[in-house]
Amino acid sequence: MNKDKRLEMFRRLKQANPEPKTELEYSSAFELLVAVTLSAQATDVSVNKATARLFPVANTPEQIFALGVEGLKPYIRTIGLYNTKAKNVIEACRVLCETHGGVVPDNREALEALPGVGRKTANVVLNTAFRQLAMAVDTHIFRVSNRTGLAPGKDVVAVEKALIKFVPKDYLLDAHHWLILHGRYTCVARTPRCPECSIIDLCDFRSKSAVDEKGKVVAKPIAKSKAKKRASDSRKTQTKKNGIKKSSARVTRKNTVKKSAS
Ligand code: SF4
Repeated sequence: MNKDKRLEMFRRLKQANPEPKTELEYSSAFELLVAVTLSAQATDVSVNKATARLFPVANTPEQIFALGVEGLKPYIRTIGLYNTKAKNVIEACRVLCETHGGVVPDNREALEALPGVGRKTANVVLNTAFRQLAMAVDTHIFRVSNRTGLAPGKDVVAVEKALIKFVPKDYLLDAHHWLILHGRYTCVARTPRCPECSIIDLCDFRSKSAVDEKGKVVAKPIAKSKAKKRASDSRKTQTKKNGIKKSSARVTRKNTVKKSAS
């Protein structure tokens, strides 16, 4: 994807959604930090349900630390990996209270030093709570960046660096939200909704050619594994057919020999 297309892509994404926001519900940097920590391998909806129960009771590092691991678990039991997450959140609260005066730090090093906080969580907090130029790459952003050709990369760090380099500067601050929402609702993992995609003419994804000029899907893009299976099935069928042909040729030859002998 070239520079002009990148610019046009974000112009359109912004036009459709001028002020994109995270779907996680929060009202402070600390609440956001907790919500993002809980959201690993879980949906935003499930996290919002849990934090809607938790935050009215405890929404500061001191209050959540006072709950303790066993006191926190009932609030987040509906979220995957809640045992580990409960331990991490309580430990992070302890560090925040002991080292940062109960305030969420606004720099990567200090954030990543908190238990349960990796590069992605730190990037979300830096970008969303502190409005810094940081790019969190999740599964949706990774897919959209590679499919469209916007910022291809083999791993999340490579995609993150490519996005920082290639996303037009005016759009960088909100690019994370636009890309995540585009991946979540349009450029979905299994069958991207190319016919209704606002950037179809800018996107490099090869299988979007499965859409005709009127935007109708004429052949669904098939997953690599399915394509492989189909190819192998067709090879097997071909081999079988060839086998039948060969054996019937042998029978014909035998009959001819018999006739000429008699
Ligand atoms: S055209 Fe299809 S593959 Fe490309 S961004 Fe849109 S939905 Fe994704």
